[in-house]
Amino acid sequence: VCSSDLQVTSQELHKSLDELVTVNQKLHRMATIDALTELYNRREIERLIDDAIDSAAETEGGKLSLIMLDIDHFKNVNDTYGHDAGDKILEGVAAVLNSIVHEKDGEAAGRWGGEEFFLMIPNCESDAAIERAEEIRQIVNLYPYPYVPSLTCSLGVTTTNGREDKKTIYTRVDDALYEAKETGRNKVVVH
Ligand code: GH3
Ligand code: MG
Ligand code: MG
Repeated sequence: VCSSDLQVTSQELHKSLDELVTVNQKLHRMATIDALTELYNRREIERLIDDAIDSAAETEGGKLSLIMLDIDHFKNVNDTYGHDAGDKILEGVAAVLNSIVHEKDGEAAGRWGGEEFFLMIPNCESDAAIERAEEIRQIVNLYPYPYVPSLTCSLGVTTTNGREDKKTIYTRVDDALYEAKETGRNKVVVH
C-alpha cells in the first residue's frame, strides 16, 4: 500500500471512531434520560439517590434530603383534556424542577413514575429541604401550563441520618407524601 492509501484508511478509522462515540453518547442518554420530561429516568435517579445515601452515610454528619412530588388529581387532567394535554403538563412540571435544581451542588431531579418526581439535595438539613419543597409547591402552582387553569402538587420530604437502610428512607418519604395526599393535598409534609 502507498502512504496516501494509509492516510485515507486512517481518516476512515477516525470517522468510524467519532461515529461510535456519538452513538455511544446517544445510547447513554437514552438509558438515563426520560424521553418526555428530559429529567433523569427512574433507574438513573434511583442510582444517583442510592449513591448519595451511601456518600452521606460515610460522611460525618452527612445529610441527604429527598423530596418526592406527585401531581394532584392528574387523572382528571387526562380525563378532561386528553392524554396529550397531560403530557404537555408533565413537561411543564419537569421544566419547573429543571429550573430549580442546582446541579453544581450535586442536586438531581428525576421522573419516578407517571406523574411522580424525585429531587435529591445533598448536604441539606430538614428545615432547608422543607423550604425548597415549599418553593417548588408554589412555583408548580404558578407555572403557566397549557390547557389547565391551575395545577397543584403534594410533596413528601425526608432527611437521612446516616444510620438507616435505603428501604427505610424511601418508605419514609413515600409515607410523608401519602400523608400530604390524605390530609388535603397541595402541601408539604416532612417525616
Ligand atoms: P392524586 O391526587 O391522589 O395523586 O390523584 P391522581 O389522579 O394524580 O393519581 P392517580 O395515581 O390515580 O393517577 C395518576 C394518573 O397519571 C393516571 C395516569 O393515567 C396518569 N399518567 C401516568 N403517566 C402518564 C403520562 O406519561 N402521560 C399522561 N398524560 N398521563 C400519565
Ligand atoms: Mg401518583
Ligand atoms: Mg397524582
